[in-house]
Amino acid sequence: MPDYAHHWKDGTPVHLPLGKIVCVGRNYAEHARELNNPVPDTPLLFIKPASAAVHLTRPLLLPEGRGPVHFEAELAVLISRPLTNATASEAAQAILGYGLALDLTLRDLQSELKEKGHPWERAKAFDGACPLSPFIAADRLPHTPITFTLDIDGKRQQTGNTDDMLTPVMPLIAHISTQFSLQPGDVVLTGTPAGVGPLARGQTLSLELEDQLFVETTVA
Ligand code: ZN
Repeated sequence: MPDYAHHWKDGTPVHLPLGKIVCVGRNYAEHARELNNPVPDTPLLFIKPASAAVHLTRPLLLPEGRGPVHFEAELAVLISRPLTNATASEAAQAILGYGLALDLTLRDLQSELKEKGHPWERAKAFDGACPLSPFIAADRLPHTPITFTLDIDGKRQQTGNTDDMLTPVMPLIAHISTQFSLQPGDVVLTGTPAGVGPLARGQTLSLELEDQLFVETTVA
């Protein structure tokens, strides 16, 4: 059974329960292009359940026999207040912390589901589909853009820069809250930049959020 709970970089717990993880697809134009997807004109939203969350610092356990599992490194935002029909500035005030996440995706299955016009949950909501790092307080990253990187076995795979987002963080959170409420403890994944690909056993993944957060994990 999943045993994920939010915590800060220094190991102390964040006393908010994880409710849901709201994700946005194709928020970086170059990533949309690499998968031959059209760029959406409104944010493409989907949800991972709390049961998908695991600690990113523990070895990643991938589903077996269900096709390739792709990594997607993303900036994760931890929400501290209820948000319904929020403005961008209300959204900014509701950000408690930033972290990094992997939006793990069963890519072949997702392609099949897309072709059929079916929802993506089977490809994106499995147990372990959302490794989450510890969080840092939002006031550690008061500026824009925020940048992050993913290296695999020492080679740079993804570089994210929030300036490249089609819908930036605050308007994205505000928009989400017009569709359904965000609650304290919810996490928003803000989309992945170009460079996604399949994971393989034994790989080491190193993720860095500016000079504030460095996390490393392996594929079990
Ligand atoms: Zn994603």
